[in-house]
Amino acid sequence: MVNPELLEMLRCPVCVREKSGLLDRVREVWLVCRDCGRKYPIVEEIPVMLISEGDKWAAVAPADLPVPPPRPE
Ligand SMILES: [Zn+2]
Repeated sequence: MVNPELLEMLRCPVCVREKSGLLDRVREVWLVCRDCGRKYPIVEEIPVMLISEGDKWAAVAPADLPVPPPRPE
């Protein structure tokens, strides 16, 4: 289980400077930014909040996101 309080505090690192950067949890192991659509994987219960990861999955439809997510390279 990922700590729910931690999840609530997390924001998209790109958008948080100018907007809310709120994240929606999708398919249990993905966090999707409401503002820009970048998607951050939760790998082995740890949210990977790297902009490079968010960029990589931004164009992938939520239904096509892999579960479990691959480890970041
Ligand atoms: Zn964002």
